[in-house]
Amino acid sequence: MAKFRVELEREECTACESCVDSCPASFEMADDGWAHVQGSKRVGSNDELELDDLGCTKEAAEGCPVNIIHIFEGANKIV
Ligand code: SF4
Repeated sequence: MAKFRVELEREECTACESCVDSCPASFEMADDGWAHVQGSKRVGSNDELELDDLGCTKEAAEGCPVNIIHIFEGANKIV
C-alpha cells in the first residue's frame, strides 16, 4: 500500500495545462484534451495513482484553478 493517492477528476478539467507546467513528470495533456496523471489507472472518469513520494504533484494539485486534483495520505485528504 502506497503512502499517498492522487486523484484527478478528468471530466472537470478545463485544459489550462497548469499541472503540466508545474509537474511535467506526473501530468500530461491526453489526446482527449484533458489532463492525465502519468502511470495512473482509470477509475470511472477519474485518474488514480498511488505514490510513496509526491514529488511535484502536491504543488500541481494546489495550483489547479478548479481544484480537481486531490491528494490523500491514507484516509486523510491533504489537497
Ligand atoms: Fe486540468 Fe487542473 Fe491540470 Fe488545469 S491544472 S489542466 S484544470 S487538471
